[in-house]
Amino acid sequence: MENLRRKTREVRIGDVVIGGSHPIAIQSMTNTKTEDVKSTVAQILKLEAAGCEIIRCAVPTMEAAQALREIKKQIHIPLVADIHFDYRLAIAAIENGADKIRINPGNIGSEERLRAVVEKAKEYQIPIRVGVNSGSLEKPLLEKYGGVTAEGIVESALDKVRMIEEMGYDNLVVSIKSSDVMMCVKAHELIAKECPYPLHVGITEAGTVYSGNVKSSVGLGIILYEGIGNTIRVSLTGDPLEEIKTAKLILKTLGLRKGGIEVVSCPTCGRTKIDLIGLANQVENTVADIPLDIKVAVMGCVVNGPGEAKEADIGIAGGIGEGLLIKKGEIVKKVKEEELLETLRQELLNWKR
Ligand code: SF4
Repeated sequence: MENLRRKTREVRIGDVVIGGSHPIAIQSMTNTKTEDVKSTVAQILKLEAAGCEIIRCAVPTMEAAQALREIKKQIHIPLVADIHFDYRLAIAAIENGADKIRINPGNIGSEERLRAVVEKAKEYQIPIRVGVNSGSLEKPLLEKYGGVTAEGIVESALDKVRMIEEMGYDNLVVSIKSSDVMMCVKAHELIAKECPYPLHVGITEAGTVYSGNVKSSVGLGIILYEGIGNTIRVSLTGDPLEEIKTAKLILKTLGLRKGGIEVVSCPTCGRTKIDLIGLANQVENTVADIPLDIKVAVMGCVVNGPGEAKEADIGIAGGIGEGLLIKKGEIVKKVKEEELLETLRQELLNWKR
């Protein structure tokens, strides 16, 4: 599938290159106050450990722009500054070491102000992400298309891209977002045909962890499957760590990423004799730090569990008071229920690759 990906230009963001044939990078955004360096760094380090590859921070004040310098010293992934309205903040963010800035040129103000930002990006050779949301569509486009449409979002984004190109800069990444999932899909299909720049893809305002995960999985799933997208963010109203978990699983499910243990578990039924929901969650947590690329099954009964877990490399099946350790559907040994989790972990830690 990697070969079928849409060809784009390559863009370097700090040490990470996106576009071309580079892997799709996972992004998230901090929800701490950027001015609070300690909390922001602490959150970024946790996100890094979970697999975040590019991090974005909101820059609503000059103090936040200045904080970027200190934050950058303490983290290990590229830092993107998110700026709305005030071009001076964009300039200050670049001067304080942002590896990329995200702006909507439409709300930066006059052409002169946008030019000042572009000139600063040029001077520091950092990319600009041109970000357009369905909510910020200009009136003429709303009138032309009779409301918010995929075509309008794309036209708006391409207009902004052209403005910056005409200022002599093409170190660009583009993002177009809508909380209407299918409109978002259509907009990406349209822009992918017209735009040579890498695309940052996400479903905006996707909602709480539950609805955000579903909408992002459907939307990003289709877009990525069509070979579109060079970096992704799952937007959730929740802990950003959840965004990384979901993004990794979306890429893995689509075959766009390797690595990481995949936990499969049965849906439970009347034969289930243990707290399988609790056990499956515990297994997911316990395998998170084990660097293997295998499938682990967590099954609810010893009767059908081994057979149903044939495709998994290893698994456990729970019974009354005791369970089974299984490999490729074959029973390896009986284990006391309270030792199932630790037995599985030890097997994984000693796994022969
Ligand atoms: S493995 Fe057992 S408990 Fe789980 S769904 Fe199948 S039959 Fe039911």
